[in-house]
Amino acid sequence: MKGQMTGILKAALLGVTALGTGSQALADVTVIHAGELLAVPGEAAKKNQTVVIEDGRIREVREGFVDAANFGDDATLVDLKESFVMPGLMDMHVHIQGELGPRGDSEKLRMSAEDVGMRSVQFAHRTLMAGFTTVRDLGASSPQHVFSLRKASANGWVDAPRIVAAGSSVAATGGHGDVDGMRHDLLEKYTSKTICDGGEDCLRAVRHAVKYGADVIKITATGGVLSDTNTGTGQQMTDDELKTIMDAAHALGRKVAAHAHAAEGINAALRAGVDSIEHGSYADAESIRLFKKGGAYLVPTLLAGATVVNMAKTSDFMPPDIKEKALRVGADLVSNFQRSYKAGVKIAYGTDSGVSKHGTNADEALLMAKAGMPAMEILKTATVNAADLIGMSDSLGTIEAGKHADIIAMHGNPINDLNELLDVDFVMKGGKTVKNK
Ligand SMILES: [Zn+2]
Repeated sequence: MKGQMTGILKAALLGVTALGTGSQALADVTVIHAGELLAVPGEAAKKNQTVVIEDGRIREVREGFVDAANFGDDATLVDLKESFVMPGLMDMHVHIQGELGPRGDSEKLRMSAEDVGMRSVQFAHRTLMAGFTTVRDLGASSPQHVFSLRKASANGWVDAPRIVAAGSSVAATGGHGDVDGMRHDLLEKYTSKTICDGGEDCLRAVRHAVKYGADVIKITATGGVLSDTNTGTGQQMTDDELKTIMDAAHALGRKVAAHAHAAEGINAALRAGVDSIEHGSYADAESIRLFKKGGAYLVPTLLAGATVVNMAKTSDFMPPDIKEKALRVGADLVSNFQRSYKAGVKIAYGTDSGVSKHGTNADEALLMAKAGMPAMEILKTATVNAADLIGMSDSLGTIEAGKHADIIAMHGNPINDLNELLDVDFVMKGGKTVKNK
């Protein structure tokens, strides 16, 4: 038996060897000549580099411009000698199924779940074309469709970013994340099975979310800006609920992202062991201590703040309660981000796109810069840090051997001028070039 196994192993090894020398045509090889390459954000960019991609993964990075013919007769050359090349950007907070606007309220009446699902293909495509090759979707009204989009993207049925999806949020009855502002019969119809009250029930909700496809658990620890419930932005889930959720999610191998504005809600979520705080508007000194102690990330979503402030000022579709919250929280997000970053809290890039328009995800970088974060640090939050937050540092976030070939390029160097991020010319996801203008 042992001899037989060894024989099979040998044959397999020989097969691999034959493939490596004689039949390279079988492998799909692309060679990029990069004028400037930021392989690992946080480390210096290098001039004149060659990136070799085989079957969707980075095979190697070499100094200088190496002739593509060295990597097989059929190797495709992508000439980016005049460009700045870096890992694909990663947005840790989007809602790919919607876009905030005056008609949002009536969408539930006009659009089927299938319509919402189909439209999200377009939103996802715009996001990818903007250079965002991975997104984390934190809350969808039609969870089954966000999971389908995730599959469609992974299988190459549509050109969309890689999607890490929460499905529907785990939230308290009547709180942010539950449905509001509708007729009672419709409220009933649209209430998700992940709405929960009390530890036991929230344990069930987390398990339900995982069973139906959640990669990550999204919770709403405090009130939110856009819920029309006149409930403010204070803590809405109890300490007991939070602790139960974290333990249940972690036991099932899932991280937890907590929407949180008020300090007591942020701190309760951090104490319970949350992996990231989304928004974090009113973090206090104790929050910062807890962030650093537990290693949780802050996902600032400054773009969401800027967007709702702008909408509150320039349009009148928001009810007065929401308008007031938008104006207050928008400004506080920025000062909290500055404080937290300076204190050494780990930051991962996230926009809350869906509040802002899909495809404008890079605007967050400009807001982070305006708040005082250096460009290289910002690029790190959208690559290395984001990959770490979703537990995928071994396959995403840098251009190094073995990782997914998620690569973007732009004409100028964004470390010198972040506006370059707004004009991404080249996008490759999983080795497939989806944009090259
Ligand atoms: Zn959100």
